[in-house]
Amino acid sequence: MDPHILVVEDEDALSTLLQYNLEKEGYQVSVAGDGEEALMLADEATPDLVLVDWMLPKLSGIEVCRRLRNRPETRNVPIIMLTARGEEADRIRGLDTGADDYVVKPFSMTELFARIRAVMRRIRPGLADDKVTHGDIVIDRVAHRVRRGDQEVHLGPTEFRLLDYLIQHPGRVFSREQLLDAVWGSDVYVEVRTVDVHIGRLRKALNVTGSQTDPIRTVRSAGYSLDAK
Ligand code: CA
Repeated sequence: MDPHILVVEDEDALSTLLQYNLEKEGYQVSVAGDGEEALMLADEATPDLVLVDWMLPKLSGIEVCRRLRNRPETRNVPIIMLTARGEEADRIRGLDTGADDYVVKPFSMTELFARIRAVMRRIRPGLADDKVTHGDIVIDRVAHRVRRGDQEVHLGPTEFRLLDYLIQHPGRVFSREQLLDAVWGSDVYVEVRTVDVHIGRLRKALNVTGSQTDPIRTVRSAGYSLDAK
C-alpha cells in the first residue's frame, strides 16, 4: 500500500498544493488544519510520515511533535517540520523538537520529496525505495511501472497496490481480509471474493510472455503469498 503522509498545515493554499503533489508522487495523503485535528487523524490511522508546520493554531507544531512522540503508536513515525525562513529554522536546529528533519519555506516540491524519501529510507527502508526488485519482477514506484524480465507489465491501480504490498513481505501468507485492509483500506466495504478477482488479474498480467512461472502462491483456506525466491 502507498505510504500514508499526514500533512498538518493551516494555510489552505499550501496544504492543497502539498496534497496534490504528494498524491501525484504516489503517496496517500490526509490533511489536518490544526494540531488537534492532526492528533485525532493520527489516532484513527497511524501515518507513515508526518509533515507538520511550525506555526499552527491551537497547538504549535512543536507540541504536535511532542505529543506524537509520547504515544506508543506514533513514537517512531518520522516527522518533518515545515518552518518559515528566519529564526524558526535556527531555533529548530538547536531545539530538541522530536522532528527528524525540517524544511524551510518556501521550498520546492523536488526538495521536499528528496527529504521525505531520505527520512523514510532511514527509518522504514522497505517503504521508501523507488524501485523494488523481486526475482525478475521490478516495481518502479515513482513511474508507477512494473517490469518482468525485459517486458513491461500492464497493471491496473489495484493490481499495482496488491503487488507492491505482497512484494514487501515475500513468503508471508496473507488472508483475503488482510489484503482487503491493506490494499483497499479498512473503511471500504468490499467482498472478500474481490481479492480473488484481482489476484487473478495480477497473475495473468505478470505472465507477460504466456509461459512464465506464477510467482503468487494460493494457500488453501489461508490466502495468498508471493513466493520467496
Ligand atoms: Ca502556519
